[in-house]
Amino acid sequence: MTQTHILGFPRIGAQRELKHALESFWRGDDPDAARLVDTGRMLRARHWQAQRDAGQTLVTVGDFAWYDHILSLCVALGALPRRFGFDARQLSLSEYFALARGNADQPAMDMTKWFDTNYHHLVPELDAHTRFDGGVTWLWDEVDEAQALGHPVKAVLPGPITLLWVSRWYGDSQPGQDPRLSLLPRLLSGYRRLLDGLQARGVAWVQFDEPALCADLPPDWLAAVSQAYAALPTTGVRTLVATSFGTAAEHAERLAGLPIDGVHLDLVRAPEQLDAWLAAWPRDRVLSLGVVDGRNIWRTDLRRALSPLKAAHALWGDRLWLAPSCSLLHVPVSLAAETRLDPEVRSWLAFALDKLDELKVLAQALDEGDDAVASALQHSDAVAAGRRASPRVTYRAVQRRVADVSAAMTQRGSPFAERAARQQAALPLPALPTTTIGSFPQTAEIRRTRAAYRRGELSAEGYLHRIRDEIRQAVREQEALGLDVLVHGEAERNDMVEYFGEQLFGFAFTEHGWVQSYGSRCVKPPILYGDVLRPEPMTVETTRFAQSLTDKPMKGMLTGPVTLLQWSFVRDDQPRETTALQLALAVRDEVRDLEQAGIRVIQIDEPAFREGLPLRQRDWAHYLDWAVRAFRLASCGVRDETQIHTHMCYSEFNDILPAIAAMDADVITIETARSAMALLDGFGAFDYPNAIGPGVYDIHSPRVPTVEAMTTLLARAADVIPVARLWVNPDCGLKTRGWPETRAALANMVAAARLLRARWGLERMEAPPAQAA
Ligand code: GLN
Ligand code: ZN
Repeated sequence: MTQTHILGFPRIGAQRELKHALESFWRGDDPDAARLVDTGRMLRARHWQAQRDAGQTLVTVGDFAWYDHILSLCVALGALPRRFGFDARQLSLSEYFALARGNADQPAMDMTKWFDTNYHHLVPELDAHTRFDGGVTWLWDEVDEAQALGHPVKAVLPGPITLLWVSRWYGDSQPGQDPRLSLLPRLLSGYRRLLDGLQARGVAWVQFDEPALCADLPPDWLAAVSQAYAALPTTGVRTLVATSFGTAAEHAERLAGLPIDGVHLDLVRAPEQLDAWLAAWPRDRVLSLGVVDGRNIWRTDLRRALSPLKAAHALWGDRLWLAPSCSLLHVPVSLAAETRLDPEVRSWLAFALDKLDELKVLAQALDEGDDAVASALQHSDAVAAGRRASPRVTYRAVQRRVADVSAAMTQRGSPFAERAARQQAALPLPALPTTTIGSFPQTAEIRRTRAAYRRGELSAEGYLHRIRDEIRQAVREQEALGLDVLVHGEAERNDMVEYFGEQLFGFAFTEHGWVQSYGSRCVKPPILYGDVLRPEPMTVETTRFAQSLTDKPMKGMLTGPVTLLQWSFVRDDQPRETTALQLALAVRDEVRDLEQAGIRVIQIDEPAFREGLPLRQRDWAHYLDWAVRAFRLASCGVRDETQIHTHMCYSEFNDILPAIAAMDADVITIETARSAMALLDGFGAFDYPNAIGPGVYDIHSPRVPTVEAMTTLLARAADVIPVARLWVNPDCGLKTRGWPETRAALANMVAAARLLRARWGLERMEAPPAQAA
């Protein structure tokens, strides 16, 4: 029998049960964590049962995490940042969350995106003293739990190479050596302890997730792969090394030479790697093929998926396993709850539970022949054909407009220095201008208002009224705080992509299609299924109203084309770049309409710009080329006097600085507070030519930074960026914060800017950016 399995299941729950339980614990409504612990147990049991119901022999255990799987591995290994002073063996849930979210004494651990997904993991903090001497026993407890329910277990852990790869080194290091690798021997002992516990429990398989094998590993890391997997599989538990998000073809020989028992490949992202593996991978070991897309929500074209499988099945027989391409963490749980989706679009989709069924059909086809699943195959054929032919995916006018994009459309009128001078004349700003990234606290009341409007309990007029009240309050707050460039606060936006998608043709929306972004935060990515068209202005009325309330410049707030693309489930029937250019044209029209309406500063958020970067450097140039082009198409339709901002966060920027400069935004705001400005060094070394606002307020923490903390950060920034091109702002939007801490933090931020203006004698500085250029 062909086995099917999954690399991981979405842990948050179909109704976001985990989110609700987490937040109630954090609020103090669940003081002994009883409800939280129960919710976790209930979700795990439910998800294991779903795997068994779909015919899977082994359930996957260890994919659950209270906050993040990398953090959970760190606390299981005992590798906590020492600065917290916690004992990993005695770690309480509150301490675990303190690592993730910070506490009164310590800022949170850093967070960054998991490979090229929109999931954020915590970044382990390593130095020469890091030990892996053991910590909490949660993984073992979960294994016990699954076994008590009668399930045979496959445990899953992020693999040692990937763990080190996504970690950051905080100690001294010698040039030419990656100090993280010096910890490998110790780390392997830590893993062995975990494996011993799994072996003692009779766990059949352990899956090591090694997406790092699909990145560009330098030679010393390749040696580490050999070292790790020569050492680890000594414990009796069989080992499956799972790769995702790209090709691992170049590791076929290496892995075949190591004593591992199975390998998993992502054949959705990198179908071309199969041949290399068919040639190199021993037939007496497990070959797990990821043929169902774990990252996207389209139904699998079953007949197309089957043909490569048949060849592998002929050679591997029962040692062929079928799986989604990667963990299902990145897709919603259940389509069953979607009652309002357009039935035609719905028929094209498969969520996590549907994907389990798809695997079952594929396995049955291999075992019993196509005839055994004839009706499922016919249905799949019909869906694929229907989607290709559907008139709702096509707008010829949009396709023509994309084909006609000219070079002039992606070019501002003048170079930055000239634009900056004109902008300074148009909107005189002090040196070190202060601003925020867009959103203000989304209070329970705002959420209730939006929900009531959605349910039809509040009229359009009543809703508009309420939103205007919020905008008025946001403007009043910002004027009182003395900020220089204001925002309207985004009270009308549930989500920065959904809000725009809902106003564009080509997008569909789910009611419950939640995907975890980090911790308790979830997003409901829109489904981008057709050509994109903006039927009418999207933000102009709101922004014009906000500007009417103040003499200060009001910053228009848009989501950029790359982020709209990256944070949606996008169509797989045309190149991503084509979809990006369609989105860019829609944003461009909006930018011009805002300018027409008298808005002088427009921010086009591109927080997902970096995460779209392919894992392999050889693919970067192509991506950056079209992504920059899309941003410029969106932003370059305005006069020199109109100041274009962009915003990016929670990524490494240093390796894409030329592309960021090529975007040619007048101002870029980035997140730098958590890393104490380390992220800014690259901008300095590169001589980034335009203005920058490095974040001085970590918005993921309820802590209120002091004036002194912020002046220290700004002084550090000023070592790297000429003050004339420096802005002062938080790391990111403030929607997840409460008003009291936001008010206090922004007051300190404005005070910090004023203090430095005085200290550095900048009070009367004019046209700063032009002078510096
Ligand atoms: N303008 C958005 C906000 O402030 C930006 C969010 C983001 O970068 N993710 O919420
Ligand atoms: Zn941000």
